Amino acid sequence: MWWSHGSLPFYFLLGPDKIEGRNLAGPRSVLRDQRCLFGFNRQLLIGCLLTITPSITTAQRVEIQHEGRTYIDLATVGGGLGMKAYWLSGHKTFRLRSQWTNIDIGKGKRLLYLNRIPIYLGFPTLESSSRLYMAKADYQHVLQPILTPQAFPEKPALRRIVIDAGHGGNDSGAKNDAYRLHEKNLTLDVSQRLKSMLERRGYEVIMTRERDVFIPLERRPQIANRAKGDLFISIHFNAAARTTAEGYETFALTPQYQASSKYSEPGRGDSRRYDGNDQDPWNTLLGYHVQRSLVQAMGGTDRGLKRARFLVLKHLHCPGVLLELGFVSNPETAQKVRSATFRQSLAQSLYDGIIQYHKRLQRIP
Ligand SMILES: [Zn+2]
Repeated sequence: MWWSHGSLPFYFLLGPDKIEGRNLAGPRSVLRDQRCLFGFNRQLLIGCLLTITPSITTAQRVEIQHEGRTYIDLATVGGGLGMKAYWLSGHKTFRLRSQWTNIDIGKGKRLLYLNRIPIYLGFPTLESSSRLYMAKADYQHVLQPILTPQAFPEKPALRRIVIDAGHGGNDSGAKNDAYRLHEKNLTLDVSQRLKSMLERRGYEVIMTRERDVFIPLERRPQIANRAKGDLFISIHFNAAARTTAEGYETFALTPQYQASSKYSEPGRGDSRRYDGNDQDPWNTLLGYHVQRSLVQAMGGTDRGLKRARFLVLKHLHCPGVLLELGFVSNPETAQKVRSATFRQSLAQSLYDGIIQYHKRLQRIP
């Protein structure tokens, strides 16, 4: 079948990532500067970028203020990462490009495409004097974690993985009666398949549930925290009234002061910081690798890496994401997820994403 993971050559899944990290890391001296500055004083970020991009002139403003927020010039950011920066024709999309990485950023949009994976931003980008600016918060919460994760201190260990099969017991989750599908059964099935694969690789796996039982939402992160898990993967399937809705999406916890992806503006509650925000950079890095693996292996619609303040993510003490593995309300998807082979492919793609995240962590000095 076309979506079978087995049909993809292994290097296809690992290759670009491997090279992406090396390419973007730049020369050692640059890396050292960045680590030092990012690690001890992020306020000095701009000073750091200026020292490694001597071509910039003082006439170009690296940072601007807008509605009380700091925005950073993307051409300067790209230069600091050794990437070319230019507008695509039509002047609606700005591109940062290196040999292995392509980032397309829409003007006035809260969305970018990093190697074709849609990633939702906290704030719309901003054009000023023909230059495109990104909220500095988005630079720190999206680009830096994926492109230069070495900028962040305390890289997490990865030995004990907590898998959270969504719903259970009285709570069936999404349903498709015509295909006799209950989300709670699908999530448990995929979770068990993922567990076996991870255990074969030598990870310790803890499940928030191993049978058809109701577990309150707030218990799920508690289980992960008490077990001192290093990673939390919450597995779900979607449903929508519009039966044509389809595709895969990954949610990471919304950073403090930002609106979640479904809201246009930050609200009053969004200034609250949760325990899970301590893991912001690693949540992004994990989310990127899992979403990328999922869509590369499974095809279909890539709904991207989004942000939400889900209860299971807010109180986590380790990196975590929540995955929506397709719409059971879509007849085509419903037909596919009935197949054990398809569910095995889903689990395999999640496994591959976790391994790619782990390998990326291991390459951080
Ligand atoms: Zn669900």
